Amino acid sequence: MKTFPLRIGTPDGLLFEGEAERVVVRSITGDLAILAGHCNFCTALGMGEAHVVLEDDTRRDAACIGGMLSVMDGACHLLATTWEWKEDIDAERANAAKKRAEEKLARTGLTDKEYKIAEAKLRRALVRLSVKE
Ligand code: ATP
Repeated sequence: MKTFPLRIGTPDGLLFEGEAERVVVRSITGDLAILAGHCNFCTALGMGEAHVVLEDDTRRDAACIGGMLSVMDGACHLLATTWEWKEDIDAERANAAKKRAEEKLARTGLTDKEYKIAEAKLRRALVRLSVKE
């Protein structure tokens, strides 16, 4: 299968640079797969499971939490707010974050902002746990 150059980074640095057959991420409008030959394109990313299929057909799963993806002249650049490869996800930490967020959401009298923060924390924890499964 044809490949294309892919770079994945976060504000902390470059996490991947190489040829890929496919990258699948959740954009703000739904799941998206980029293959070789994709037209020039740009989208904001949502929170969700992601994966990259490498030249040798290996699949690497990850949690992707926000950011931007662009395709320009055949090269794909993915700048994520956070990107965690499956093997780097700490399930215990995600479970603890999930529990804290659920406890917070079960309280009454939260402000709108507190509710939204707790909800986003819960969603991040759930994405991490589903990638880790
Ligand atoms: P926590 O309450 O555990 O910090 P969080 O959802 O608030 O969770 P983030 O603000 O999304 O955490 O992430 C802060 C940093 O910690 C990022 O660099 C992120 O990649 C990393 N991180 C957060 N949770 C995990 C996890 N379960 N496993 C590995 N890295 C994590």
